[in-house]
Amino acid sequence: MRQLRIGIDIDSTIYDLEAAWVAKYNKIYGDNMKQWEFDDWDFIFSKKKIRCTPESFFWISQHADVQWDTYPIHGAKEVLSQLQADGHLICIVSSAKRGVIPIKVAKLMQDFPELDYELHFTKEKWLVHLDVMIDDNPYLMKQWARLFNLPPLIVFSQRWNTKVPIPDDSQNLIVRAGNWHEVYRMINRQILGEEVEW
Ligand SMILES: [Mg+2]
Repeated sequence: MRQLRIGIDIDSTIYDLEAAWVAKYNKIYGDNMKQWEFDDWDFIFSKKKIRCTPESFFWISQHADVQWDTYPIHGAKEVLSQLQADGHLICIVSSAKRGVIPIKVAKLMQDFPELDYELHFTKEKWLVHLDVMIDDNPYLMKQWARLFNLPPLIVFSQRWNTKVPIPDDSQNLIVRAGNWHEVYRMINRQILGEEVEW
């Protein structure tokens, strides 16, 4: 089997940032927001009326407490260790702000103690040499797709990104995965041309 360099985003792809973010917001502002109401990162466009400015709301996501309170998304641990067992190289690629990088690294070491991986912290994710990238941000993907010759992209579905259409791009494979097992199937089926049980 061909061995791949698999790029994986952290927030909302490996870790459920929104769950911790919403819980922190409710605690600070005495609201009762549900995670499913988080339907757009830009709250100007969200149906949910928040009790603070969009800037304050976004700031919560960058707070150290929130980063510590995140948990891996269902299936992430299992699939990442299976990808490693299959002989692929995991490349964590995140655009995290400097202040939260130590927390993200500590979380990864705590929650994925058996996993070996490269770590890349950059806003210019396209600079990292990859065979496939998995990220929840379809806007970023669309921008890159116009500008660069990219590896295949798997958009990790989250409630807030499902309304963003995935472009039909003949030069760059862009597909959407609803969960981590689907990511595993797509890597094998779409990239390697092999069928797997999962
Ligand atoms: Mg993300």
